Amino acid sequence: LVAKKSPDHRTRFTVGGVEFGGALVPVLAGPNTVENEELIVKTAIGVKQAGAHMLRGGAFKPLTFPYRSPKFFEPREDGLRWLQIAKQETGLPIVTEVMEISKIEVVAANCDMLQIGTRNMQNYPLLTEVGKTGMPVMLKRGYGSSLRDWLMAAEYIALEHDRLGQDAKIVLCERGVVANHTHRDTSRFLLDLQVIPAAQEVTHLPIMSDPSHATFWQPWVKSMMLASIAAGADALMLEVHPDPKNAAVDPLQCSSLEQFDDIMKACRPVAQAI
Ligand code: PEP
Repeated sequence: LVAKKSPDHRTRFTVGGVEFGGALVPVLAGPNTVENEELIVKTAIGVKQAGAHMLRGGAFKPLTFPYRSPKFFEPREDGLRWLQIAKQETGLPIVTEVMEISKIEVVAANCDMLQIGTRNMQNYPLLTEVGKTGMPVMLKRGYGSSLRDWLMAAEYIALEHDRLGQDAKIVLCERGVVANHTHRDTSRFLLDLQVIPAAQEVTHLPIMSDPSHATFWQPWVKSMMLASIAAGADALMLEVHPDPKNAAVDPLQCSSLEQFDDIMKACRPVAQAI
């Protein structure tokens, strides 16, 4: 179902009025974690002003380490509520991660696109249940997964969309893969730019790039955004926080609102439409 049927076969669909797979290169921006209402509303207003098309933010968080800094707590349902407030304030559609089958209903009721994180890319029961909602899905690439693994994970969701009588509404998101040489000790990931044309050769689904998670280093995000556009990315995602130094999660990779504005200004002349 995810395979291209002809060389120019491309899936197009809209998420809260934002088109994926068309001429526009949608930009999804927001903090790693929906830390509180004030933060997400401030971020939503700022990223909208700079030209973002959707708001991202995690309410249910897959964190590598089980130990939390004193300022971190997982917002869960509160985070979903705050995302809705940010949406009401700005009109930006929401993408947020779903990690557990038991939370699909509440997450789906509070977002426009469901995100499957890198760690759950091969959680097949979760993929199937998410597919059954018929909602648009952003499927992150498992950080140790081949293109074939990734496409077959997407196939699980596409199968459920097909059973509902609809075309697959899936965006594939490259977010960095584990590599021996990452050029900085803080990260174990490398943005696989090559997978963008490789995926587009075989699938009709739109491909997104997430340079924030891939680089884990904000100073490299702008150039990797530009490189992703040059490689043909259909959509982009990045982490934005009004006060990066004090971000509860991933302070090294998130861009400030000013940095985001600068990145958008640099991307606009390069992307066909952004
Ligand atoms: C995220 O986008 O918030 C996230 C946790 O990403 P990943 O699954 O790529 O680590």
